[in-house]
Amino acid sequence: MLRTAINQSVRQFSASASSIKCHRLEGKVAIVTASTEGIGFSIARRLAQEGAKVMISSRKEANVKKAVEELKSEGLQVAGTVCHVGKAEERKNLFEKTKSDFGGLDILVSNAGINPVVSTVLDSDEEVWDKIFDINVKCMYLLMKESLPLLKCSKSPSIIIISSLAGYQPFNLLGIYSISKTALLGLIKATSSELANEGIRINGIAPGIIKTKMAKMLYESEESHEFAIMSSSMRRLGMPDEVAGVAAFLASDDASYITGETVIVSGGTNARL
Ligand code: NAP
Repeated sequence: MLRTAINQSVRQFSASASSIKCHRLEGKVAIVTASTEGIGFSIARRLAQEGAKVMISSRKEANVKKAVEELKSEGLQVAGTVCHVGKAEERKNLFEKTKSDFGGLDILVSNAGINPVVSTVLDSDEEVWDKIFDINVKCMYLLMKESLPLLKCSKSPSIIIISSLAGYQPFNLLGIYSISKTALLGLIKATSSELANEGIRINGIAPGIIKTKMAKMLYESEESHEFAIMSSSMRRLGMPDEVAGVAAFLASDDASYITGETVIVSGGTNARL
């Protein structure tokens, strides 16, 4: 019964999200990493709906092709390339292709993040630590640095880092992942004044439990679903489009005096650091 009511409210939200009225990103160029599915795909679509030209990317060519075709069929200006964020050559190509296809870069949305294991902090081994920190933290840092030559040429450049509610309130069984997302809060804070000197804003988004493939284990079973929705004040899961709207705001000039912040998008789930 409760689940039916929740699904209805989620459906109502999705329906209303299909007509975007703002065009705040006309003339801008964006890269969204890990954007063939889930939150990244929704962000890419929303930025393009608001007028940006968007470079889609992820590890698998077939996924890139499918996402690009879908967004092009909606009349959006997108292109795509394969980019595993852990591969230096593919990151280099991502920036070069964005410049050659779209002429520059204004917005970097660094969204790729992984969680290969379900375990507590002390039950995880070194290999897991390295893998998660490599993609979730080091590659975010590298992408940020590598985007600078292009962003410095933009009139209103902005970086958005996708962190997590788990960065504020660690999830027991997502131990190392939670720590990696806390590190991103630090990365945003630590770089904001340096980047401000270059006229570049950097902000983060910390989603709660959002209905995507990655989060499935947190809501798949009846029991986990109940737990997930009961931890949120709004008593439902979030949808990727609800994260995308915040990304569009942070990337736009409406957020021109906001930097070094992380916006929590969690339906009111309690979180503190
Ligand atoms: P998702 O639906 O599972 O989508 C993952 C996307 O990432 C796919 O497009 C995948 O495509 C791509 N990808 C995976 N590894 C990659 C890599 N190494 N390099 C480039 N692309 C890669 O995941 P999601 O839930 O949207 O998560 C997106 C981000 O949001 C992550 O940083 C995650 O930590 C964060 N987040 C999610 C939630 C949630 O509840 N869903 C909550 C808080 C934070 P390929 O397979 O083709 O690479």
